[in-house]
Amino acid sequence: MRRILQYGSPILETPSKDVEDINDPKVQNIINEMLKILQVEAERSAGLSAPQIGELLNIAVCRRTDLEDSDLNTKPSDIDWEVMINPKIIKKSANKSVHWEGCLSINDGDLFGKVQRPKEIEVEYIDIMGKTKNIGASDFFSHVVQHEVDHLHGVLFLKYIKDPSELYTSDELE
Ligand SMILES: [Zn+2]
Repeated sequence: MRRILQYGSPILETPSKDVEDINDPKVQNIINEMLKILQVEAERSAGLSAPQIGELLNIAVCRRTDLEDSDLNTKPSDIDWEVMINPKIIKKSANKSVHWEGCLSINDGDLFGKVQRPKEIEVEYIDIMGKTKNIGASDFFSHVVQHEVDHLHGVLFLKYIKDPSELYTSDELE
């Protein structure tokens, strides 16, 4: 399995490029690798972007439900992951929401901060079947999509944390 790049890697701060051919075996392989990692990391992950595994392509995978809302009996394989190819956020609400965010590329996923983002967004992307989709996302799911799309622009959630003392490890949060 591929290693997840960590904060400090210049790739994480480099903008990605659009996927030109979703049937390219290389692209399919990257998507499969991302889904594999997410199944393993399902307990503590809400999404992943291609640059995090070293590929500067506009591919993000997002969890559709809130971790806290998900049924404890749900097996990771049952979790609904949405593959988003070339996602573009085309609308953002003026009203904001605040959610805790962490990132597998920052302290191996063990650093959390409260991030404020638009509460509702509309995102357009190509799904895993090659179909163009346009969906609305709100609250936690909206944050997940924005967090992953930020990765594709070379932006990490730390950008929204004004004071580093507002970041906590899971031990500190207990
Ligand atoms: Zn992240």
